[in-house]
Amino acid sequence: MPEIIDGKKIATALELQIAHDVRKLRSDTGVEPGLAVVLVGEDPASKIYVARKIEKTNAVGMASIEHHLPVTTTQAELLNLIETLNQDDAVHGILVQLPLPPQVDALRILDTIDPHKDVDGFHPVNVGRLSTGTGGLVPCTPLGCMLLLDTVVRDYRGLKAVVIGKSNIVGKPIAMLLLERECTVTVTHILTRDLASIVRTADIVVVAAGSPRLVRGDWVKPGAIVIDVGINRLHLPDGSSRVVGDAAFDELEHAKAVTPVPGGVGPMTIACLLSNTLKAATERVASANVA
Ligand code: NAD
Repeated sequence: MPEIIDGKKIATALELQIAHDVRKLRSDTGVEPGLAVVLVGEDPASKIYVARKIEKTNAVGMASIEHHLPVTTTQAELLNLIETLNQDDAVHGILVQLPLPPQVDALRILDTIDPHKDVDGFHPVNVGRLSTGTGGLVPCTPLGCMLLLDTVVRDYRGLKAVVIGKSNIVGKPIAMLLLERECTVTVTHILTRDLASIVRTADIVVVAAGSPRLVRGDWVKPGAIVIDVGINRLHLPDGSSRVVGDAAFDELEHAKAVTPVPGGVGPMTIACLLSNTLKAATERVASANVA
């Protein structure tokens, strides 16, 4: 049977470490890392995500600065708020919860965030840093995937990795991170031909497609590792529903290690958001000391 990579346990350990480092930063420098979370509108799923992020931020001893704006907020109003947060020394990280209402150009908003405070890692400067391997803030979900992989992979060099999905928030950044570790990386997507035979060559499969049970057992070679990013709600004939990933978890008994859904990649995403906020605060302190 494969090793089940316990994302909940690994995320909890990371959060404990972050709480320790936050206390140390505060006692050494007096700086309290601050995360500003901006929510526009009343989207129920976004409200739940934001509430969870705020709760975890407070739990590790960071300050959370909340801005809940009406759905009618204009682009100019939101840009003004971002500029204010960029200038605010108490704010080390800025997170704008997506999606934004249609009158707001989300790309323009994300591009306005100071790259040093871009804890989601979506700003073009951070995307460039990731693709050139020169530091910066890395998107939280791919960062979490790598931390999970690190628990089961000792040496990445030369391993064949297949990434399913090429989104800017998961597929492309995880491909860059795997490439940085010297994997041979193939990125696939909805129009990829004969996906199954490409996946069969992989030592590491990362699937982020949003397609329930896309990766079947006979797609995965014995001894491969499967990181399942997908979150899909499956409606059952009896009217109930459950959350499933993008891989057919029950068919992966020959894999070396797999992440469950839920309880795999999901818990790591918020832990990595906190980790990025701490990193942003620590780097600000370091650059202030140099100046
Ligand atoms: P997206 O819709 O932006 O991108 C999906 C990608 O998968 C696209 O590149 C598409 O071409 C590819 N794809 C879709 N169906 C495919 C198929 N049948 N075969 C091959 N490729 C296919 O999605 P996203 O934002 O990258 O998210 C992907 C999944 O990961 C979703 O289920 C999402 O809910 C989940 N997700 C989870 C977390 C987390 O914290 N666990 C974070 C982000 C996204």
